[in-house]
Amino acid sequence: MNEAMEKSEILSWLRETNSRRLQTLWHHADEIRRRHVGNAVHLRGLVEISSHCVRQCAYCGLHVGNAELTRYRMEAAEIVDAAHQAVAFGYGTVVMQAGEDYGLKADWLSAIIQQIKRETPLAITLSLGERTDAELQEWRAAGADRYLLRFETSNSALFDRIHPPLGNRPCDRLALLRRLRELGYEVGSGVMAGIPGQTYESLANDILLFRELDLDMIGIGPFVPHPATPLGQNSPDFPYAGEDQVPNTELSVYKAVALTRIVRPDANIPATTALATINQKNGRELGLQRGANVVMPNLTPLQYRQLYQIYPGKACVTETGEACNTCLSGRILRIGRHIGSGPGGRGTHANAQENICHA
Ligand code: SAM
Repeated sequence: MNEAMEKSEILSWLRETNSRRLQTLWHHADEIRRRHVGNAVHLRGLVEISSHCVRQCAYCGLHVGNAELTRYRMEAAEIVDAAHQAVAFGYGTVVMQAGEDYGLKADWLSAIIQQIKRETPLAITLSLGERTDAELQEWRAAGADRYLLRFETSNSALFDRIHPPLGNRPCDRLALLRRLRELGYEVGSGVMAGIPGQTYESLANDILLFRELDLDMIGIGPFVPHPATPLGQNSPDFPYAGEDQVPNTELSVYKAVALTRIVRPDANIPATTALATINQKNGRELGLQRGANVVMPNLTPLQYRQLYQIYPGKACVTETGEACNTCLSGRILRIGRHIGSGPGGRGTHANAQENICHA
């Protein structure tokens, strides 16, 4: 098992059910993680700045057709306060995420980015959907360091079905990811595991694409059905793939995370909130022990957090930023890892070498 892993081997691990053999995969991924990115777990404070969205994604509770959702857009001062809270908790990064909300004006966000950069040492990650080239350029010039945009699945027919285009605008997330790299962003992407219609082969292709795109950050979470979405209503438009269907289980996610660590040894890989949602007891810990090295504690003010309902039962929605911080730090320390300091971007390799020396 190494970086150059063939598709056939990836596929066979994705189908593996023998728990003793899977232990070999977990162990190998954990060892590669330790060698390449060390024992530090980087904390990225997540601020969900708006729940407005113009998209009709068939999987997401924020989709424009969900009339039951109360929408919010945070004030600039609230976002900056959350960034200061990230500093107080010792996080190196603040992640601003939202639905694809064109009410978030480019200049308004640029001013917030500049203020956070002026007042804090934080790296800034944006995750705001498929914004225009001019906006992406402006935010990069304002100081944004990273951009997250999941391609969700490498199967373009499936992607088009679950993520309908917006009017006549072409929707090519792979081209956007390349463009973000050209603009100088560190680039993150990822997929959901277990979308109805997603086959094992398709998930294997996703993992190969992570390697081909040389991504800096790779997020993999389970698809969690939301009852107010077409995918959460078992609509016949989104059929399952029979025995080739990837189940939307934590096991599918652990396998994909472990294999991703093997093919992209120095990437930053989060143990996602969706994983913690389907296994609240120790999903995050198992993710961290099977290849992940990042966690994203939630810093969204409590009054908004429950409204950012991309799927139901989301972990940590009733906890304050403080409680979330204490809980996650404890979980990390209890599995023998430590909290990373600084922004923890790509290039944590140096830290990893240091960890090996002291190990
Ligand atoms: N609007 C931006 C975008 O589309 O990239 C960022 C926000 S979007 C809510 C963030 C991620 O949530 C998506 O990339 C998707 O993978 C994940 N997500 C949405 N609905 C989900 C669901 N039902 N289950 C699991 N993950 C989901």
